[in-house]
Amino acid sequence: MSAALRLQQTLRPRLRAGQAEITVVEPQPYLTYHPLLAEVAAGSIDPRHVVVPLRRVLPDCRVLTARVTRIEHATRRVWVDAAPRGEHGVPTELGYDLLVVAPGSVSRTAPVPGLAEHGLGFGSVGEAVALRNHVLEQLDLASSTRDPALRQSALTFVFVGAGYAGVGALAELEDMARYAAKGYHNLTADDLRWVLVEATGRILPEESPELAAHTLAELRDRSVDVRLATTLESALDRVMVLSDGSRFAARTLVWTAGVRPAPLLRDTDLPLDRSGRVRCLPTLQVLGPDGAPLPGVWAAGDCAAVPDPAAEYCAPNAQHALAQARLLAENLSAELDSRPPAPYRPERLDCSTSLGLGRGVAHTRRGGQLTGRRAWWLHRARHLRRLPSFDRRVRVLTDWLLGGLFNREVVSLGSVEHPRAEFEAAGWDTHPEQ
Ligand SMILES: Cc1cc2nc3c(=O)[nH]c(=O)nc-3n(C[C@H](O)[C@H](O)[C@H](O)COP(=O)(O)OP(=O)(O)OC[C@H]3O[C@@H](n4cnc5c(N)ncnc54)[C@H](O)[C@@H]3O)c2cc1C
Repeated sequence: MSAALRLQQTLRPRLRAGQAEITVVEPQPYLTYHPLLAEVAAGSIDPRHVVVPLRRVLPDCRVLTARVTRIEHATRRVWVDAAPRGEHGVPTELGYDLLVVAPGSVSRTAPVPGLAEHGLGFGSVGEAVALRNHVLEQLDLASSTRDPALRQSALTFVFVGAGYAGVGALAELEDMARYAAKGYHNLTADDLRWVLVEATGRILPEESPELAAHTLAELRDRSVDVRLATTLESALDRVMVLSDGSRFAARTLVWTAGVRPAPLLRDTDLPLDRSGRVRCLPTLQVLGPDGAPLPGVWAAGDCAAVPDPAAEYCAPNAQHALAQARLLAENLSAELDSRPPAPYRPERLDCSTSLGLGRGVAHTRRGGQLTGRRAWWLHRARHLRRLPSFDRRVRVLTDWLLGGLFNREVVSLGSVEHPRAEFEAAGWDTHPEQ
């Protein structure tokens, strides 16, 4: 969306004169701003405010709510399937002159028994809303049951993977559930058990070791059971078995153990690196087998292996993705005007993570490190600035201001995910005349 938005601005006269056409193919009719999903799960932000509707911001582009199923760059064709997820339609063929590949990444799952049946992902607005409802439902369940084993497993929440997605989601939900527990006559925050399982020896690899250590201490201070150098071995029948030998029942299992490039890339004739990302030059042109740019194709974001002098390749994160999208649009316009493209020069990252209301960790580009309320304010200010729509910035700011004025809303609306359940439960009257 960011690349198309910029191209739309530069090419507007040509687009309106019918001399150029931009087609955006995306299965969701919106862009999702992932760094604020944890706050959606915590109920601090309305889910609709972290998404940007494509048709509203790209009026001069042709937006197709569909999925690309295959790319054949040798003949400059893509196949597009508009059937809803889970259904298979007949893909339509589209031709193009220039191609921008940016399908991002998907959760990196593992063959853990029981994960597919009981695990929840955390990479979309739908998953953030579902997780919020699910956590609140567990509090309702624990408060209402007389079965101690069921109560214990309802109050046990397991997160696997301690990057910014896992740590942010756990910290925000723990904060929200701690507050929500006050509304139950027979629950206290101490009854809730939060477990964070991380395969490596540290959390938050995106942050400095000092801030990661501070976050670890803060989580442990909040009684979060953080298990480093540990993996989930099984989740069969909702019983968690960890590699350190522990075993316990939990009705919530959230999988945030990293990402892998979008599966679409395997169905293309583009050159991929060992990790499955599209090999790119610093100019964001796709690298051909002979080491020269492959004509007419560009890539950016999580799906692209873009060289970074400080590391081997740019890490998959929103800062690189947004900066690359801007440069990609400029380079593509330059190519149309026969000007040379500019290389991507990665800037130092300025990461931050919110750990619940008024708590966070952040570092600045100059190496400064902040914790607590000041880090939290900086985190919010940064994401407000980066949200790619003025309208959304105002809406998110309003959510935050209202959240400061009123009590948190902690009711579960799990039934909205099963809109037909009540109707089906009513049964079918086979003898209407009686
Ligand atoms: C929960 C969470 C929290 C995060 N927090 C941070 C953070 O705090 N800071 C940070 O820097 N980064 C963060 N990230 C990472 C960041 O969101 C990503 O790096 C960034 O979104 C990558 O941008 P992208 O455009 O490459 O991919 P995406 O934003 O994932 O966009 C790719 C789009 O391509 C679409 N697509 C996929 N396959 C197809 C197909 N076959 N056909 C058509 N369209 C397709 C997808 O629907 C998607 O909308 C977070 C990620 C998550 C999941």
